[in-house]
Amino acid sequence: MTAIDPVGVKVTLASGQVLSADRIVLAPGIEFDEVPGLGTSDRMPHAWKAGTQTSLLASQLAAMPSGGTAILSIPKVPYRCPPGPYERACLLADWMKVNKPGSKLLVLDANADFTAEKDNFSQAFYGLHANVIQYVTNAEVTQADPATMTLNTTQGQFKGDVVNLIPRQRAGTLVTANGLANTTEGRFAGVDVLSYASTVAGAGKVHIIGDSSATTQPKAGHIANQEAKVCADAIVRLLAGGTPDPAPVTSSACYSTITMTQASWLTAVFQYNAASASMQAVAASSAASVGWSSGDYRDMGTWFNALMADTFA
Ligand SMILES: Cc1cc2nc3c(=O)[nH]c(=O)nc-3n(C[C@H](O)[C@H](O)[C@H](O)COP(=O)(O)OP(=O)(O)OC[C@H]3O[C@@H](n4cnc5c(N)ncnc54)[C@H](O)[C@@H]3O)c2cc1C
Repeated sequence: MTAIDPVGVKVTLASGQVLSADRIVLAPGIEFDEVPGLGTSDRMPHAWKAGTQTSLLASQLAAMPSGGTAILSIPKVPYRCPPGPYERACLLADWMKVNKPGSKLLVLDANADFTAEKDNFSQAFYGLHANVIQYVTNAEVTQADPATMTLNTTQGQFKGDVVNLIPRQRAGTLVTANGLANTTEGRFAGVDVLSYASTVAGAGKVHIIGDSSATTQPKAGHIANQEAKVCADAIVRLLAGGTPDPAPVTSSACYSTITMTQASWLTAVFQYNAASASMQAVAASSAASVGWSSGDYRDMGTWFNALMADTFA
């Protein structure tokens, strides 16, 4: 899709073909802010979309000398997968202990503190991986120099042999370029969480789910799956002349690798709150593991396979 007409409810394809619809559902994921100085260099991959970027980071890490320094920079919220960068830091630290002895991992966080699973990640950062990870908070990247592998941040300058630079994020271009990113400083799409219809005036027949939308739920694959179901159910009801389910419930589970063989977990249930017109976490149905285990690592595989089978059935 190269363009959409949110009011006329039409999409244009790369072939030039224009399709009309009763409703449009968009899930174009995320795009990244430009980082001053980075240009088109691939020396500091984000590896936050799988494919060439993750392969590139893997090969750079494999080529890093033992005793080297890797940097992982975390953008300001909201970003895709809140626990993801901390999980990656733990996994990298564990891998470096075995494969790159004596190496350090500098985690530069633009946020003031861990943005998810604080108990488990702080135990891992300051306990299990304390000899590898150095955690710097309030360190927002202001400039990158790929030639010298240096990052300027609000906490000073840092240099690494490998730099995994994850820039600030916004909705996919289809959303931002078509006037649908009306929240979070113009970054993400405001939606009515009963149907995921856009809240932009006149664009209510465009529904936006997944990481491109702005809701109180995390930007996670499990939540994207749940949003798709609520959205599809609402569209079926609307097309039949009815109204969306007034009390949707969604759930999310997340496993985080703390080592190459152990994981922690977090789960949350969200329920529609009519007063705030938003999905609110139900405290009694939300929980997190105390620590991590190899049993949870095995369960992670089961959860992942079930989610993929359900999503792509
Ligand atoms: C390291 C990492 C770990 C993660 N771990 C977890 C986890 O444990 N649990 C979890 O639930 N989530 C996790 N996530 C988050 C999860 O991957 C995302 O939340 C999820 O993929 C969002 O789905 P989406 O459909 O919104 O976007 P995407 O999966 O990015 O899909 C968007 C799709 O739209 C396509 N697209 C974009 N523009 C166009 C266009 N113009 N025309 C046609 N197609 C287009 C893109 O090519 C892409 O295929 C993780 C993410 C990362 C990076």
